[in-house]
Amino acid sequence: MPKQKHRQIGTVLKRMKGFYYVDVEGEVCLCRIKGNLFQGKSRKNSVAVGDHVEIDPDASEDAGWIYKILPRTSQLSRPSREGRIEQILVSNVDNLLIVSAIKSPAFRTGMVDRFLITAQRGHLHPVIILNKVDLADQQEIEDIQKIYQALGYEVLATSSTSRVGLDSLNALLQNQTSVLSGHSGVGKSSLLKALFPGWEIKIGRLSDTTQKGRHTTTISEMYRLPAGGYVVDTPGIRELGLYCLPPEELDQFFVEFEDPRLQCRFKGCTHRHEPNCGVQEAVIEGQITQLRYESYCSIFDSLLEAPSRMR
Ligand code: GDP
Ligand code: ZN
Repeated sequence: MPKQKHRQIGTVLKRMKGFYYVDVEGEVCLCRIKGNLFQGKSRKNSVAVGDHVEIDPDASEDAGWIYKILPRTSQLSRPSREGRIEQILVSNVDNLLIVSAIKSPAFRTGMVDRFLITAQRGHLHPVIILNKVDLADQQEIEDIQKIYQALGYEVLATSSTSRVGLDSLNALLQNQTSVLSGHSGVGKSSLLKALFPGWEIKIGRLSDTTQKGRHTTTISEMYRLPAGGYVVDTPGIRELGLYCLPPEELDQFFVEFEDPRLQCRFKGCTHRHEPNCGVQEAVIEGQITQLRYESYCSIFDSLLEAPSRMR
């Protein structure tokens, strides 16, 4: 029989030391790239974590072979260190879960807003996970929920301690590929542990230092969920939202600025110091919240300060 018969479709979970860990319906198969697969093609086509690939698991003695990458539905990429070649952090992701604690550590609008920009630029569905709600009263929870729900974002209140919102979170993850983002200590690993007891996963495990030798180590890692779907750990996503973003384009990512900025007197208004600014007027009138406006100004400043490759 032709070899074709052995070919299977799998999902790349991670890359390490030249090997790709490919998940085929729950079984992990170690694979290498078939030698001539990318001859004459650019690095853009190299295999990324999240890729759906066609493999022959028994192609060689110590590993299978990847023959083909199936078309990607989405990809999160950033320029490489040299600033020119795109580096794909992960492909085929559906959701960006922005996990933030309401307390301990304190809720940070700026962090959430940065990740909302990342989601929009990467064409991912953002969901704000407001975690550790057992530490706050109902009013505090609603105050934050209202800010983002009014802008059209989904906000899910959760606590692994008091098991609030876990069913909804489970439903969100089911059969989807989700990037779990958020600072360390906000409770990402505890949420996963509460949902899937016995599952020893520490999201945020990949440290910045492991990213340095990108040919030999992993920059993203994907985990298959017991009930279907994947979660992705990709620390590089932290700075992704602001990569190559010119400060003057930042206002496009604040949905509530859309109408007010039409009223600005100056074309190219940055909404900070200019007179007759529709955005600043909307802040005074309460149509734009002070929190979000401050967040805009602070991100704007960080874009000005960032080295050029970050913009
Ligand atoms: P990660 O770094 O985002 O993965 O955070 P961890 O899951 O490691 O949690 C960090 C700390 O927060 C740990 O001490 C947890 O016990 C605590 N923690 C996690 N989830 C909750 C929660 O829902 N409520 C409270 N009160 N503490 C939590
Ligand atoms: Zn303005």
